[in-house]
Amino acid sequence: MASLKLSHIYKVYDNGHKAVNDFSIDIADREFIVFVGPSGCGKSTTLRMIAGLETITAGDLFIGDTLVNDMEPKDRDIAMVLQSYALYPHMSVYENMAFGLRNRKMPENEIKERVMKAAKMLDIEEYLERKPKEMSGGQRQRVALGRALVRDPKVFLLDEPLSNLDAKLRAAMRTEITALHKSLNTTFIYVTHDQVEAMTMGTRIVVMKNGYVQQIDTPMNLYNEPYNRFVAGFIGTPQMNFFDVKLKRRQDRVSVIFTNGDQVTVPYEKVSKIHSQYLNGDTTVTFGIRPEHIFIEKSGDGLKFIVTNVERLGNETIIYGKLGDHLGEFTMKDEGNNIVVKVVDRDDIAVGDVVYAQPNPEKVHFFDNDTEVTLMNKIPPYNTVQAEISGDRMSLLRREVLLPPIFKTAAKNAAEIELSIPPYAIVPGNDFSLEVAKIEKADDKNLAYLQKGDSYLFALVDDSVKEGDEYGFSLRNEKINVLVNGKEVLKAVGDDESLEGSFYKTEVRENGQRVLHFFYKIGDYAIETASEQGYKINSIDGDACYKNNYKYAVPREKIRLVGSSENGIDGKVKEILDYGNTRFAKLDCGGQPLLLEISGPGFSEDRVRVAFDPGDISVWSTRIDMKLC
Ligand code: ADP
Repeated sequence: MASLKLSHIYKVYDNGHKAVNDFSIDIADREFIVFVGPSGCGKSTTLRMIAGLETITAGDLFIGDTLVNDMEPKDRDIAMVLQSYALYPHMSVYENMAFGLRNRKMPENEIKERVMKAAKMLDIEEYLERKPKEMSGGQRQRVALGRALVRDPKVFLLDEPLSNLDAKLRAAMRTEITALHKSLNTTFIYVTHDQVEAMTMGTRIVVMKNGYVQQIDTPMNLYNEPYNRFVAGFIGTPQMNFFDVKLKRRQDRVSVIFTNGDQVTVPYEKVSKIHSQYLNGDTTVTFGIRPEHIFIEKSGDGLKFIVTNVERLGNETIIYGKLGDHLGEFTMKDEGNNIVVKVVDRDDIAVGDVVYAQPNPEKVHFFDNDTEVTLMNKIPPYNTVQAEISGDRMSLLRREVLLPPIFKTAAKNAAEIELSIPPYAIVPGNDFSLEVAKIEKADDKNLAYLQKGDSYLFALVDDSVKEGDEYGFSLRNEKINVLVNGKEVLKAVGDDESLEGSFYKTEVRENGQRVLHFFYKIGDYAIETASEQGYKINSIDGDACYKNNYKYAVPREKIRLVGSSENGIDGKVKEILDYGNTRFAKLDCGGQPLLLEISGPGFSEDRVRVAFDPGDISVWSTRIDMKLC
């Protein structure tokens, strides 16, 4: 039994190929985690790093509370089951299962007890004297499982264990492995490219693509709330249908307009989290709808298509069709106009029929065409609010407030600006007030729908806020993007600052011992860091680390002002950025910019010295996008 923690794990192979990028997950004891994704996405590499068969380029791997990056595979208390079984052909099943235990010098009677127990669990007791070649694929895989089982490991790693088996056996073994997980009460990590295996076995699934984690979620959340088009298409069979459409809001409904001119509508309430910029009828977005979420009728309206194939599977029927072109003609050549519908109990539909499809409005998905990310995030990334400027004040959300001086500068002479406000930048306060129309749980947070005319302003609120309340709030101006005529004129202030510098070590003798000290160096400012971090950087980049440049990032709130005689880096104050409720000094630290939050209007220095604690600094490579520690 064990929990696992993967923290910012990277794998860069010797040939420079970056196979795994910034993989982080907390795996609880007894979870059944599945890594799924197309071939080459980095699943096995990640699993092999957990097993200790592959070195971890950067990041921390914990089993329980122990950092195991440098621990030998045999000491990790992990058992691995592979696709290829990897059984010894000249040994009997019993000997194969006993082999690892004998190597550990376990007493023979205990070995026997363990092998017999595992054989019973896996129903292979009668084959113990056979050689692997005298067994079927399914039985061999059971032996491979048994060999892992007898070791009583803390964590089971399984790499495509079923892919050599035929479909029927695979389904049966899926059930067995799930049952095994339940009875063993051990943490399982299972790699597969098969989404059905992932969905049926995992308590949580990690979907990967090109070395990047796309989404980590429960099977049902992946199915119902895919984060992007890739996850939406990967999970579910037949695959989700995707169409290019434009969306146009008409009061309480939104028209979904297909390229051929056909339209369906969905209630605005269902898509109210989609940013208004996508609802103007001009922007092409991707509409996603699963085959099982489409109703079809032989007459009426909706998305017209011609049936090109019907597959009757008994319990359900899969209907394949082609949408018409803009003249309503069905051209069979075009690849982009396919539709697949899954229905139950419809034996009246035949090839050649012209039918009308209506999506279930509860089940629609929309994705940005460029980023492919959902437009229906549980927490919308930002709200857009128009503000009118007059003199030193601005009017927005039915109120007039002070125009932050930096907004005024950015707006130049514009009379109207657009504010892009993330929900977390709306904080309790007295500047504005709107009615709470609805509150819902989203990622363990409370998302409030604040009624703003005929749409909503989304804010994160605490438990004391209730539906129907009048919610008083202010804005964190520094977290707002400002636009004029659709063009960004001021970017929100980020949470971190970073400076580039070098890395060095010194060697001293202390009490007769040779001791290394490691330093981050930014300009003349040298910060001694823990030797653990120093060794980490050295182990990742080798001795090149003493020649490389690194990016040293620190949360802004951790930047300290220090006296001119203390260790620190000097910054020349170039400008004061006045956001009204907060102010920042824009510093020039030896040619590198740094934004420092300053308190009160009394700040009048033209030169300051700042310092950081080494524990607050994260170190990034400047050559590839990788966090070293
Ligand atoms: P998956 O298990 O998802 O199929 P892998 O983890 O095996 O993917 O591989 C991820 C990527 O890393 C692939 O592009 C693969 O070609 C590459 N790769 C795997 N092993 C090595 C290696 N030893 N050297 C270089 N590249 C490798």
